[in-house]
Amino acid sequence: MKKLIPFIVLVIFVLLFALVVTKRPKVEPIQRTFIFFDTFVRISFYPCKGVEEEDVFPAAERELERIQHRFGYGATGLASLLGGQGDVEFAEEDRDLLRRAVQLSKRTDGAFDITIGLLEQVWGFKGNNPHLPREEEIAEALARTGYEHLRILEGEVHLDKGFMVDFGGISKGYAVDRVVEVLKGKGIRSGLVDAGGDLRVFGEKPEGTPWTIGIKHPQEQGALLGTFKIDSGAVATSGNYERAFTEQGISYHHIIDPGTGYPATGCVSVTVWADDAVTADAFATAVFVLGPERGLKLVESLPRIEAVIVFEKNEKMEIVTSEGITLQ
Ligand code: AMP
Ligand code: MG
Repeated sequence: MKKLIPFIVLVIFVLLFALVVTKRPKVEPIQRTFIFFDTFVRISFYPCKGVEEEDVFPAAERELERIQHRFGYGATGLASLLGGQGDVEFAEEDRDLLRRAVQLSKRTDGAFDITIGLLEQVWGFKGNNPHLPREEEIAEALARTGYEHLRILEGEVHLDKGFMVDFGGISKGYAVDRVVEVLKGKGIRSGLVDAGGDLRVFGEKPEGTPWTIGIKHPQEQGALLGTFKIDSGAVATSGNYERAFTEQGISYHHIIDPGTGYPATGCVSVTVWADDAVTADAFATAVFVLGPERGLKLVESLPRIEAVIVFEKNEKMEIVTSEGITLQ
């Protein structure tokens, strides 16, 4: 027995050591919530040496304000750029975002279309009075929709007369990406920025576990449809419950099919995981427009884009996920 004692002590020591090494202490993140883009924007990061929260949050807030003003819902100027309406000053940032928007319109085969502005306008989603437009109004706006009519040249932007740009499908995603850059610029190594469900994570959590993302239940307020885990990237959701009005018993929502000029009907909600929030945001809108079958096909054909698609079949809710996501 005596001979065994050193061995037992050693085993206990090894076990204790393993416990200390594998179970890193839980560090609480520093968080603050703001209101922008008509929603809550939650900024959360893990403490780093030399980083003062009073230096971080005001800078992040200024960036949110700037982006809301320039590209946000209801913003004037660039956000509702109308072709043929005189000169608009373009900064390099504007051209870059417009260029990316045109690329995303191409990659989604026009299901996401950055020139949806006029259609959004006739449906009244940009104002306080959304309503069912007359058929001719829709036809006219549809004739003035098409990203091929927006060309970004060296230092110039050309939009054909009467066409209108709308950043609504990517502005929240862009804000999230920009705030992540602000946080990184302040020396923060890991955190999360969440603008009403369009979010991006960066870095590793102190306890080394992946980030858990919850998907809102489209029909039960406050409930979750499920969760999945990611180690990096951005997640965005488009849902028909976000902005909608009812006329003569029919519900109409704000995601317009650029093929028909009417709200897209194939999905209830679409959540997309991509490398950055602009891409996730645009693809969520696009897959929503394409519907479950074509949407899933597009997602599966592209690397580093995953989706959870919720739709209704025979009045029952169904969920499909692309191969890279396991819903829990
Ligand atoms: P989201 O909530 O990200 O799906 O974005 C919806 C917003 O995107 C709408 O309020 C419009 O401003 C804009 N939008 C609607 N339909 C489209 C579309 N097919 N392509 C691009 N943007 C769209
Ligand atoms: Mg979107």
